[in-house]
Amino acid sequence: MIRINAQTIRIGTHTFVKYLGKDAIRGRVHELGKELATDYHDKFPIFIIVLNGSFIFAADLVRSCAFECELEFVKLMSYQGTESTGKVKRILGLVSDIKDRHIILVEDIVDTGRTIQAITEDLKGLGPASISVVTLLLKPQSLQIPFESPYVGFEIPDAFVLGYGLDVDGKARNLEDIYQLRME
Ligand code: 5GP
Repeated sequence: MIRINAQTIRIGTHTFVKYLGKDAIRGRVHELGKELATDYHDKFPIFIIVLNGSFIFAADLVRSCAFECELEFVKLMSYQGTESTGKVKRILGLVSDIKDRHIILVEDIVDTGRTIQAITEDLKGLGPASISVVTLLLKPQSLQIPFESPYVGFEIPDAFVLGYGLDVDGKARNLEDIYQLRME
């Protein structure tokens, strides 16, 4: 990763331009925390944090949530499904009993919406009282499945982004700002 200047980085043959600065991200994450506090302060919810991409967002978000809660961390595993469904994703690592509990799923980015739909379907089978999704980023133009949530950090255009937990081939997760791929 080469930093060309404060606004631009280069990874392999791709150039990424700063898109969301750390102060804007911090402010919006804090707002999301306050909105969640209004809705969940008396519900003792479980945050289910979808690794790896959401780890930095989740760490900031839960520290902005001034109410009693529990945290769970899960990973997704892709399996080959039927011909019609292609790959299916299943949750790994959930240890809590979520029956009758209020669940807040924490995602880094919703793109086509398939991942969040797969997780939500898996969790519904375990009998939670409710499931909400909080996502830092949403690409509305990429959605292939309806997705609605009051807890969206930023709606962004359909271009690849990285930083603040989001990677490209395992790199750039540690950047404080979010960068967007520059179309050459
Ligand atoms: P979906 O199933 O909604 O299409 O995709 C969700 C997952 O795709 C995210 O959790 C993330 O891992 C990955 N993804 C989608 N768009 C981007 C992007 O612009 N940048 C990065 N780094 N990952 C993305």
